[in-house]
Amino acid sequence: MAHLAVSQMAVTVPVGSDLSIRRSGFKASSFSFQDKSWAPAFTLDLKANSSFVRSRQVICLSVPVQQATGPKVTVSPLELEEAPEPPLNLHKPKQPYTATIVSVERIVGPKAPGETCHIVIDHDGNVPYWEGQSYGVIPPGENPKKPGSPHNVRLYSIASTRYGDSFDGKTASLCVRRAVYYDPDTGKEDPSKNGVCSNFLCNSKPGDKVQVTGPSGKVMLLPEDDPNATHIMIGTGTGVAPFRGYLRRMFMESVPTFKFGGLAWLFLGVANTDSLLYHDEFTKYLKDYPTNFRYDIALSREQKNKNGGKMYVQDKIEEYSDEIFKLLDNGAHIYFCGLRGMMPGIQETLKRVADQRGENWDEKLSQLKKNKQWHVEVY
Ligand code: FAD
Repeated sequence: MAHLAVSQMAVTVPVGSDLSIRRSGFKASSFSFQDKSWAPAFTLDLKANSSFVRSRQVICLSVPVQQATGPKVTVSPLELEEAPEPPLNLHKPKQPYTATIVSVERIVGPKAPGETCHIVIDHDGNVPYWEGQSYGVIPPGENPKKPGSPHNVRLYSIASTRYGDSFDGKTASLCVRRAVYYDPDTGKEDPSKNGVCSNFLCNSKPGDKVQVTGPSGKVMLLPEDDPNATHIMIGTGTGVAPFRGYLRRMFMESVPTFKFGGLAWLFLGVANTDSLLYHDEFTKYLKDYPTNFRYDIALSREQKNKNGGKMYVQDKIEEYSDEIFKLLDNGAHIYFCGLRGMMPGIQETLKRVADQRGENWDEKLSQLKKNKQWHVEVY
C-alpha cells in the first residue's frame, strides 16, 4: 500500500479543478520483468494474462499536496544533489571514459517489431549525470568516412536516475533500439548497413568495455525548484528513456532533496503491447501513487483512434486536451522525446485543439517556450 503524507499547509492540486483524476491502469502484459537485474525488488507480477486490458477508474483527490512517499529505496545522497549546475561534457570525444558493460537485456516481447535493449553501464562514479541528460558512445572500429579515425559519437538518453539502477551512483542505463536495415527491394535485412553503435551496444556482453563521452544536454533536465509541479511527458519508443529516470526519481528513490508531491503524467506511444517499455515499473507507480501519477499509452498497431485510424500519442493528447491545456495554463512542464517524426503530428493536433478552444497556438507555444515549460529532444 502507498503511504501518502498529507501536508496541511500547501493547497496545490495537481490536476483540474474538479478534483477528480482519471487513472489509467493496465492489467497484464505478456512479458514480465520479474527477474531482471535492473527492476526493483518489489516489481509487480503482471504476466498472468497475455491480453491487454485497459481499465479506468475515477478517484477523488484530497486538496492538500500529497507527497509521493510510498515504498521507496533510500539512497545516500550524492554530492551531485548539492551542485548548482549539472555536470557537462566531463569526457570529450578525444578523451572518452572507458566504462564497462554490466548487463544487456532485451526488454520487448516476441511480437515487438524490432529489438530494444536495456543496457546498464558501470562508470564507477566517473561520469556522473542528472536525470534527462545523455551519454555519448563511440563504437569500436574505424569511421568509414574518415579512415584512420574513430567512429563519430552517438548520443543516448540516460534512462536511469543519477543513482543508477543499483542506487549507488556508479552506473547509467540506456534504452537502445537496434537499428536494422532492410533492403527496400528485397525486404531482406542487409547486415552491412545495420546501425553501428546500436548493434554494438545491443550485442555487447557483461564485462565488455565501452567508450563514453558526456554527459550532455540541458533541455530535458527535470526542473526541481517546485516539487509540486506538473510534468506531462510524451514519449515514443526509446523516447521513454529520460522519463524512466524522472519517474524513478519521483517514485522509486527516497531523495532528501527532492520530495515529489506534484503530478507526473506519461503518454507513451509504441507499436503494440509487446513493445511497451518499463511497463511494470510504470504500472507499479500507478498502484502506489494514484494521485501523483497518470499513465496513458497509444499502441499504433493494436488500437484505433476515434476516426478508425492508428492510435498515436497525439490521439491520446487530443483525448485529454482540455485537461492538458488547463495544466499548461497553470504552469505544467511538457516534454517530448523520441523520433523526430513524432513532432509534426503532435504540433498539428495541439494547433487544432487550440483553434477549437479559440486560442492562438503560435502565441501559446512561444509563451510556453518563454516560460521554460516546453522541452523537446527528438532525434
Ligand atoms: P548508424 O550506423 O549511425 O546508421 C544510421 C542509420 O542508417 C541506421 O538506421 C542504419 O541502418 C542506416 N544505414 C547504415 N548504412 C546505410 C546505407 N549504406 N544506406 C542506407 N542506410 C544505411 N537512440 C536510441 O536507441 N535510444 C536513445 O535513448 C537515443 N537517444 C538519443 C538522444 C539524442 C539527443 C540523439 C541525438 C539521438 C539519440 N538516439 C537514441 C539515436 C542514436 O544516437 C543513434 O542515432 C542510433 O542508435 C543509430 O545509431 P547507429 O550507430 O546504430 O546507426
